[in-house]
Formats: sequence, C-alpha cells, structure tokens
Amino acid sequence: MSDSVVIDVGATATRSFSPEVQLDAERVSFRQPDGSESGFLVSDLVGATLEEQGGVWRVDALTYSYPAKRGCSRGGSGATRVRWVHVVARLTSEAVARALVTALQLLATGSVAWRDPTAKPPSRRRLLAFINPRSGPGRGVDDFEVLCRPMLVDAGCDVDVIVTERAGHAAAALHAMPASELLSYSGVLAGGGDGSVHEVVQGLLSRADGAACAAALVLGHLPLGSGNGLASSLCAAAGLPYSVSNAALLVTKDARSPLDIATVFCETAPVRSGFTPNAPPPTGWGLERRFSFLSSAWGLVADADIESEFLRCLGDARTTLWGLVRIATLRRYRGTLWILPEASVNAATTAALGGRAVAGSAWPPATPSLRPFGEALTTEDGWRELRGPFACIWVTSTTHQTIGAAAAPLSSHHDGVLTVTAITGGIGRGDLLRMLLEMDDTGFSAHLAAHPGLATTLTCRAFRLEPDPVDPMRTHGHVVVDGEEVGYGAVQAEVHPSLVTVYGRLKPQT
Ligand code: ADP
Ligand code: MG
Repeated sequence: MSDSVVIDVGATATRSFSPEVQLDAERVSFRQPDGSESGFLVSDLVGATLEEQGGVWRVDALTYSYPAKRGCSRGGSGATRVRWVHVVARLTSEAVARALVTALQLLATGSVAWRDPTAKPPSRRRLLAFINPRSGPGRGVDDFEVLCRPMLVDAGCDVDVIVTERAGHAAAALHAMPASELLSYSGVLAGGGDGSVHEVVQGLLSRADGAACAAALVLGHLPLGSGNGLASSLCAAAGLPYSVSNAALLVTKDARSPLDIATVFCETAPVRSGFTPNAPPPTGWGLERRFSFLSSAWGLVADADIESEFLRCLGDARTTLWGLVRIATLRRYRGTLWILPEASVNAATTAALGGRAVAGSAWPPATPSLRPFGEALTTEDGWRELRGPFACIWVTSTTHQTIGAAAAPLSSHHDGVLTVTAITGGIGRGDLLRMLLEMDDTGFSAHLAAHPGLATTLTCRAFRLEPDPVDPMRTHGHVVVDGEEVGYGAVQAEVHPSLVTVYGRLKPQT
C-alpha cells in the first residue's frame, strides 16, 4: 500500500489518501483488505480515530446510520441510529494517517477545512449536559447513556453530566455557576423534555451576564422527555425524522441555528414552588419574568398538558389521551387576547428588539412593544383585540410543539415571530376530535386552514392574554409557558428574534 496523498480540491472537491481512500462532501469511499469497495455517507459520519499497531497506523471512521430495515420515523426505533466502525485505512506513514483522521473529523462537522491538507485537527468541544431522570417514562439516564453519550464521545466531545435531583436544579445550577466555569463550555445540553430545556434557558438568560452566555454558548436538546417540541422542530428543520439519536446527531455535527426567545411576563405568582431564579420584574410588570423558546398556551392544550402529568408513564401519548377527556368535557374560556401583528411593528421597535445576543448588550433584553399590565393596549398603537370565549389559545415559537404535532409547520424557530392560534369557543367537539386524531406532523394546522371559521391564525411580535377575572373557570384552567405551568392570570410576551443559538440545522457544504 503506498502512502501518497493525492489532493484534488478543484470543481469535484475530492481528497484521496493513497488511491484506496477518497473523500468528497457527501461520501467517503475506501477499499477493504479483500479488495472490495466500501463507503458511507458523510451525513452519518460522527468522528474518526487513529491507532498504531506494530508500525501500522489504523484509521477508523465512526458512523451512526439507520439499520438496513427502517421502521416508522415518528420517534420509533426505526429512526434510531446504529454505531459502525469502518477501518478506512492501514497506513505506514503517521503523517498521512493523521491528515486522514483530521480530514474525516472536519468532514463530520461540516467544516470546509477538510479539503485543506494543512488544516489543524478540530479542537475538542466541552459540553455540559443536564439529565432529568424523571422526564418521560423515567428512562432519561439510561437513554442518555445508551443513545447519546457514545455518539458525543465519538464526536470528540468531553461531556460533563449533571443528573438533576429536583425540579429547578438545572436552572439554579446554571444561574449560580461562576462565569469562568460556565464559559469554559461550548454548549449546554438539556436531556429531558421541553421542561428541562425551559430550565436551561431560564438558568442562562436570568444571569446578570445573560447576554454573554447567550452569545457564547450553544443550546442543545437531547429529547428524553414526553414533550419534545424543540428537538422535533430542530429535526424537522434539518430534514431528519424525529428520534433521540437524530437529535444527538445534530449536536455531534456542531451545526448551529439561531433560535427566537420571547420574554414572558406573568401577572400572578407561580403555582409551583420550583426554583425560579429570575429577579422579579419591575413594578407593574407582574410577578414573574420567563424566557420562552416554545409556546404559551391557555385552554384545551394547556389543560391536556398539565392535567395529564399523572399519566407520565405513557410518554407522549399522555397529552393525546387527556386531550380526549378534555374534549368530552369541553371548557370554554372567557377573556381577551391582544395581538401586535407583525406588520404593526415599526422599524424603531425592530431595531430595539435586536438580533443575536451580543456580549455586553443591555440585559435583560428590552420589550419595547409591551406596556405594564395596568396600562390598556389600544388599536391606535396597532394592537388587535380578540374577545373570547375560546376553546384554546396557543402561541407558538417553533414549528412543532411535541413529537409529531406541528401547530405552525410553515413557521420556523428563527423567523422572528410568534404564531397565534386562537380556537373559538364555538368550535364543536367533532372538529376538535378530528383535529386531535389526525394530529400527525401537519394535521392540526391543515384542519384549521381548511375550516377558517374555527380559529384565528396569525403571526405577531407580541401578545397579551387577559383571562376574564369573573370567569368561573379561572379556578380550573391553566396557563402554561413551554409546557410549564405559570400563575393563572394575565400573561404578555414579546419575541427577541434569533436571541440564542441551538445545535440545529445541518450545515450545507460550500
Ligand atoms: P417531560 O417532557 O416528561 O414532562 P421534562 O423534562 O419537561 O419532562 O420535565 C418535567 C419536569 O421535571 C420539569 O418541570 C422539570 O423542572 C422537572 N424536573 C427536573 N429534574 C427533576 C427531578 N430530578 N425530579 C423531579 N422533577 C424534575
Ligand atoms: Mg417562530
């Protein structure tokens, strides 16, 4: 075997390491010891290793691909990737072997430097992962160890794991961590459902140096919970079927995508006693400030989410099941929804809302469109008023809100707007039932689009929800932010486009 390196970075952009190994942006091909051709897709490549045995340097490529027989892609085992070790080359030259490993490692993360023979190996990434052992059916830790950690290690990541001991642990730990320690990581992963992501987001953005943290750290979601809206949205945006291993793959690829965050002000005190690290908002702005990446809900969706917690062992089926119960005993909520449509936001406001967090910028981020709770909103300022009764109000920031259910499939997690779906109280049980039962990736929104009288759907930069104080349901309903219950009462929010960064879309090769 000759150890010559043939480099061709012309139009075809290939690199050959001896005639036996050939790399291009999509595929790695190599020859097996028996002379047969072999290869794998770069999209499945996670890392590469080098080992010396008696003067021969063995280069292994580590890939995660679907088993030959694929099952369903809705988070079932069919979309679970299996680890493969490909012995790509056995070389006598250490220099050539090192160059090949470096090229494979760079190719795995989508870096165009793989074409450059002088490129340095990518530096190891330090990640901090919070794993919620209670999320989903309670297999969070095992699923992390089996489905996620091996892939992250193969990708050259050093992962520090904190298994949370109680609700609020992750938020409190991140809030209190010294900046020197926190900023030594390149990413923070939430292993659990959206409630776990919500904690990580609160912990980081409630810090006095939240702008620096948002600018420097990349968020990741390892979807080990029962409600996994963020990972579902990120997999969909990357063109991958939803699965834990596909969500982990997005982290290994170090592909980054902006993520919108909304500041949510809650008028009343939280119902749960979990640690809330956020300093209380200024007088007049309610009792709590939260940072939301997913959704705010009131009515059917919120009730199905919160009241089904005792069915946690059922995984994501719990909300569907309780949704059926709530449809059979449908509640109609009285109140007012104020919306600031996207078109009403003037240039000055847009500028004030800013974009990606920049270290040293004013913090917490400004909400120039909102007014203190006591102050009335007016149509002259561009606000639009919707009066209840409502069956449900769902304000969403991502395409998907849980596995296989997209309230806003045409939106994106970084479009800079919130999508409001206000389902009228006049809707019949039959329509709600059909929507629930047909709720595949797009069934919910498709049904609403086909029946415009059932709901108002529009995009906005800000909203205020005011449940009627006289409503007898006030004692029964729930208001949730990112699937977490907040105090029942008025809430208002404004979106900050692309405030943080997530491990998301696969980078196109350029
Ligand atoms: P799921 O999608 O199954 O609801 P989440 O990750 O959303 O899972 O978590 C649900 C709740 O569990 C969150 O409110 C979170 O704060 C809380 N939590 C986190 N760690 C623990 C723990 N060790 N014990 C109990 N609750 C926890
Ligand atoms: Mg959006």
